[in-house]
Amino acid sequence: MITKGNFILMETSEFRPWLTNQKITRSITKLQVHHTWLPNYSTRLNQDHFKCLEGIRNSHLANGWSGTGQNITVFEDGKIAISLDRDLNKVPAGISGANTGALCIEIIGNFDIGGDTITSAQKQAVTHVYACLSDKLNITINTDNIVYHAWYTPSGSFLGDYDKNKSSKTCPGTNFWGDGNTKAAANKGFIKALKDEYERLKNGGDEVTKAEFEALEKRVAAIEEANKLITAPKWFVDEFGSADLKGKIKDPKLTFEGWRTLAIDLRVPKN
Ligand SMILES: [Zn+2]
Repeated sequence: MITKGNFILMETSEFRPWLTNQKITRSITKLQVHHTWLPNYSTRLNQDHFKCLEGIRNSHLANGWSGTGQNITVFEDGKIAISLDRDLNKVPAGISGANTGALCIEIIGNFDIGGDTITSAQKQAVTHVYACLSDKLNITINTDNIVYHAWYTPSGSFLGDYDKNKSSKTCPGTNFWGDGNTKAAANKGFIKALKDEYERLKNGGDEVTKAEFEALEKRVAAIEEANKLITAPKWFVDEFGSADLKGKIKDPKLTFEGWRTLAIDLRVPKN
């Protein structure tokens, strides 16, 4: 798990322990399903995950949005990103007119017909994310609660299915999951996969003992704590006279380790 810029990036296996520690302070009853269309598997070749995420954020800021539109992003290699400027307690900018009470998950790729073929690592991460969220938020897995962007009109009315003439977009793609973006397609593949993963989690999940899960949870919480960006600790201010090195650092926020490294660097005599 790494925090950099405006995102936390984690492995699929770290998501559930991370989620267990999150306090949800708003009512969330719907999980949106989106594909990014751009970026997609072609633009992702050899690209750094954080570069990709900051690129998405910048394009959303250019739309005039207050931050990254989605709460969660799932990559083609199974890595999962959390938007720090759109944490789970913030209403997303996912479906115009239908964001209150919803969580926005963006799946990296173009899943329209002729686009990308979803990888098995991404499929696994996607099913895991939705199943864990359904469990945490007590959301029943069905097509009323797990909703494709394509099932809405441009003004945010719920159609409940893809309608070429009425839907605002094809998102998450006319070949999403290899089945398409209709309600029937969702029930055939995607929703079934989420239910299977939910059952797997309920029946012992990753086959770790309760003690092992708690240890993993603690480890993830410790990483998250260590990754937190903080203002200068008191010892730093005491030693170097100010938190921003007398105006040399704009918005001085670093991890604890970052402040230590900076202090060590400043102590080295320069010639
Ligand atoms: Zn969408």
